[in-house]
Amino acid sequence: MLSQTLEYTCKRGTSNPPRYADGRCKECKRKKNRRQHLKDPAKHRHRSAIFYAANSEKYRGLARLQRQTRRGELNAYCAKRRAKKLRATPIWANNEKVRELYLIAKQKGQHVDHIIPLNNPSVMRAALGSQLQLLSPNENLKKSNHFNP
Ligand SMILES: [Zn+2]
Repeated sequence: MLSQTLEYTCKRGTSNPPRYADGRCKECKRKKNRRQHLKDPAKHRHRSAIFYAANSEKYRGLARLQRQTRRGELNAYCAKRRAKKLRATPIWANNEKVRELYLIAKQKGQHVDHIIPLNNPSVMRAALGSQLQLLSPNENLKKSNHFNP
């Protein structure tokens, strides 16, 4: 593609930033969204909901296509995550307790959270004995890879 062979500088002055297919700089778009949200959260939420309703099928289709065409990358990601999970499981972990926690989470509609995220650098230094807790799905998704010791 021609656009990828040319030097591109975005509005904020970053050269060759990651961009959407339509050419917009991802970081600039993210910052613009943030500004609009802070200016009028209710209005921004409303507009986002309208956008989502109008475009969710398109983006779900794209995501599906990407899962199919990039199967290898996805498999590699999943394998890496499984390995990290295994590494974060101490040999003295009580499998029955862990199983119980997942069953309780299922019943309560909660998530089992790795207190220290699997992808956080401090995971290898941590004592991993009681590394699981119950969180609401909302809290867990918000937490993502963050960890405050
Ligand atoms: Zn930019």
